Amino acid sequence: MVPEIKYTKLFIDNEWVDAKDGETFDTFSPHDGSVIAKVAKGQKADIDAAVAAAKRAFQRNSEWRLADASQRGKLLYKFADLIERDFEYLAKLESYDNGMVYKNCLRILSGIPDSVRYLGSLADKIQGDTIPTDGDSFSYTLKQPVGVCGLILPWNVPILMFLNKVVTALAAGCTVVVKPAEQTPLTALALAALLKEAGIPKGVVNIVPGFGEDAGVALTHHPDVAKISFTGSLEVGKLIQKAAGTNNLKRVTLELGGKSPLIIMNDADLNLAIPYAGSGVFFHQGQICVAASRLYVQSGIYDKFVKGAVEYAKAIRVGNPFDESTVNGPQIDESMMNKVLGLIETGKKEGANLLAGGERIGTAGYYIQPTVFADVNDDMTIAKEEIFGPVQSILKFDTLEEVIDRANNTNYGLAAGIFTTNLNNALQFSKHVEAGTVWVNNYLTMAHQAPFGGFKDSGIGRENGIKAVEAYLEEKTVIISL
Ligand code: NAD
Repeated sequence: MVPEIKYTKLFIDNEWVDAKDGETFDTFSPHDGSVIAKVAKGQKADIDAAVAAAKRAFQRNSEWRLADASQRGKLLYKFADLIERDFEYLAKLESYDNGMVYKNCLRILSGIPDSVRYLGSLADKIQGDTIPTDGDSFSYTLKQPVGVCGLILPWNVPILMFLNKVVTALAAGCTVVVKPAEQTPLTALALAALLKEAGIPKGVVNIVPGFGEDAGVALTHHPDVAKISFTGSLEVGKLIQKAAGTNNLKRVTLELGGKSPLIIMNDADLNLAIPYAGSGVFFHQGQICVAASRLYVQSGIYDKFVKGAVEYAKAIRVGNPFDESTVNGPQIDESMMNKVLGLIETGKKEGANLLAGGERIGTAGYYIQPTVFADVNDDMTIAKEEIFGPVQSILKFDTLEEVIDRANNTNYGLAAGIFTTNLNNALQFSKHVEAGTVWVNNYLTMAHQAPFGGFKDSGIGRENGIKAVEAYLEEKTVIISL
């Protein structure tokens, strides 16, 4: 099921253009490693052109700045309609480009038009406050778009990341330069075409595919960029925070990695907990930042749970993302596959008990068996490092008090979960765990209205919901003498 690839050039000022030096790069199919597209390779000169276009589009008297906020909302509603129209094509392209199972792409895509409409509906609800001040004065605040935003995307769920960042920035009235991940530039380009069709004024949205070390570095250092929003690894997040303070003081939103703990109490409903724990770590082959990669199981149900978890993992059908019966597809590329296989070897060497999987599948593409380790302890590498692959690590605990401390004993703090039928356990855990999202008796449930982001090294700021729009705004105080 090969989708037509219509857009492979840079998108600047509403035009499709080659990179200034004419260079291209290949993108590869995670399914079989074949070249799927030659894409224009944006570098510093292209980033400069894209930022200049975004800056022009943000001028005080530009079409975009003069438009009513409700016009921005209407444009985003139109964009949502177009995504709905092209829904199957976009799902196919996403699956083809990044290896997510096609039916999962369809499921994710099905929620996106409403998320876009939700953000569109916020465009004309942006408002300041009136503030009682001392003396003969009156004060109010204005909330205004921050300016040109640099949006840097990861490869794992590119469409969702594009929309989280681009649509939120547009609802706020900003202009943007997007740098998709080098592994998965195709859906960002297809979405840019839909934004053009929806009537976005030129220069408001610009897409520059390319690599982190040149296009990414140029964008994060550019003095005319007011804000960077980045999703990706902690390592690059730290570089970006540093870059953001180099030539000017950029605002930053960082959505980084995780090592999320999921707690299964003795009183949990195991019919719920086992499949949620399985899908929580194996969904999209473990390539999600909130993967439940540390699974703490209470001692009273440990053996029974482990047996169920192993059965769950062994039943996962791994194969071509477009096959109807496939549950798990390939890892994104050879280097990520090798990283995950290396961590599996480390798990074995450090004495974790391998009960399922552990091997690469076949020699074409980047497939790995769903892998379960039991009897993992907190000091093992697989319990500490983000794996970003289909590896479930099961650890045993005795008391809630103990497991809260162990869950928090990490530099990450993105998500956490608990399965229990005791309300007090749920409330105590939710209160004390250091994580931006806590799931109780479910896992991976996402809501576009609810803030999402990390504590500690998992990030800065929040995406989704009204708060995310605020992150693209400046607040101005006006004080008037009466
Ligand atoms: P990555 O950090 O290597 O790359 C992400 C993006 O940053 C890519 O577009 C890349 O080109 C760019 N980049 C790389 N170096 C750069 C630099 N020096 N300056 C500017 N841009 C640069 O991450 P990845 O391998 O694409 O994604 C996997 C990681 O992302 C995992 O650690 C995962 O946890 C994390 N992630 C987090 C979330 C979240 O919401 N918190 C979501 C998805 C992925």
